[in-house]
Amino acid sequence: MRDFELNLTPEQESKKQYEYMEKAKELVSIKEKELGRKLTFSVVTFGCQMNARDSEKLVGILTEMGYVEVEDEHADFVMYNTCTVRENADNKVWGRLGYLQSYKKKNPHMIIGLCGCMMQEPGVVEKLKKSYKHVNLIFGTHNIYKFAELVYRCLSSNKQIIDVWKENDKIVEDLPIKRKFKFKSGVNIMFGCNNFCSYCIVPYVRGREKSREPKDIIREIEGLVADGVCEVMLLGQNVNSYGKNLDNPMSFANLLREVNKIEGLKRIRFMTSHPKDLSDDLILAMKECDKVCGHMHLPLQSGSSRILKVMNRHYDKEKYLDIVRKLREAIPDIAITTDIIVGFPGETEEDFEETLNVVKEVEYDSAFTFIYSKRTGTPAATMDNQVPHDVIKDRFNRLLKVVQEISAKKAKSLEGKVVPVLVEGLNEHDDSLVTGRLENNLVVHFKGTEDMIGQIYNVKLEESKGFYFLGGIV
Ligand code: SAM
Ligand code: SF4
Repeated sequence: MRDFELNLTPEQESKKQYEYMEKAKELVSIKEKELGRKLTFSVVTFGCQMNARDSEKLVGILTEMGYVEVEDEHADFVMYNTCTVRENADNKVWGRLGYLQSYKKKNPHMIIGLCGCMMQEPGVVEKLKKSYKHVNLIFGTHNIYKFAELVYRCLSSNKQIIDVWKENDKIVEDLPIKRKFKFKSGVNIMFGCNNFCSYCIVPYVRGREKSREPKDIIREIEGLVADGVCEVMLLGQNVNSYGKNLDNPMSFANLLREVNKIEGLKRIRFMTSHPKDLSDDLILAMKECDKVCGHMHLPLQSGSSRILKVMNRHYDKEKYLDIVRKLREAIPDIAITTDIIVGFPGETEEDFEETLNVVKEVEYDSAFTFIYSKRTGTPAATMDNQVPHDVIKDRFNRLLKVVQEISAKKAKSLEGKVVPVLVEGLNEHDDSLVTGRLENNLVVHFKGTEDMIGQIYNVKLEESKGFYFLGGIV
């Protein structure tokens, strides 16, 4: 029986998970003695920033149990945190599972675990049960907070453990997290999605929208700042609808204002903003809050109002362009980036040209361009006017060319400017240089030393190289 049916409070659940971490730690320690070495793990993340943050939770828990992280998959415990937003994400996982089988032959006590969005898809668990018996642990997106308990069950049994839930409305706070970066961190402000864009599988695999309490978010960020973090990325599938389902509703704009007050925090980013819910107050909050980066990721998906309607996006081309105009009026230097899907069912050459026209009109700083991928279970998958692959490919290449030309032009226009830059690390090829990030998310390399990591400097952008700059501190 699932514990959430026993109605444990989130606090009791968190306490119980710490008890499982202790119990697992004992089993790990016994195994270490047996092998005469430390046990190792590797968590491999597929997909978005949400998954990256979830993986930090998995890493935190495995570290707490005594496992030691290694870079490659020749480890005692390998976890794949999967994505299913496009078909090629699924294919990558199936391919790599084959490789893991050969690793496991050499290291029979190896544990292989799978979690994340792909596990919530119908048919996946059945396929794993039938043909991938070497996978030890399978769970989904709704019970990641039970990871410690599931690992313990895995360590104390030889059976394949499968625990995939259809839903859950509980948010369990305060479990261990080990960040990938010392100075920056993602922070979930909400989970799930209510929007049901007709091409998208996310609402089916991540469940309905749930917002975290503002006090929990603020407490987490204060803790991160105390631990050396100076930049946070507030994460949600549609941050603009944050707080609507809380007992005391709070808008995303007001959450930004609260986060902006946190002492010691230097930069705030957020994603993703759905155009249909983007309020004038959010634009005002971005303008008022000095720590909020001048960057808006605003997915367009298509520039054709007819296609946007079939995509169930609840805005049209005019409304989208109106938001862009308001953003630029309020924050003249704002960087705008986007997501675009090419080849949605029924997309005609005219629809595609409308997308190209919006791209030229907005002049995005950068854009993620995707080939439409048919996801079983979504309304678009059963539409009978699917676009032929060669037509999609041709449109995709044309779009990419326009996007890249505009990005390069936008970057070039920044040459000579002095901008605030957060130093993220030493340059990978030349350690007399450091690499830092601009508010618009582009990187710049300039002379510097390791002790500058995590600090913001004013840097002159001396030369644009298309997707990055060379610069110097002023
Ligand atoms: N919630 C975010 C939003 O609404 O913009 C996006 C989340 S989704 C993980 C990221 C991007 O993947 C979407 O903006 C969309 O462009 C793309 N995407 C989603 N479903 C897709 C599909 N079936 N085929 C191709 N691209 C897709
Ligand atoms: Fe998918 Fe639309 Fe939700 Fe974004 S808002 S996750 S594209 S359904």
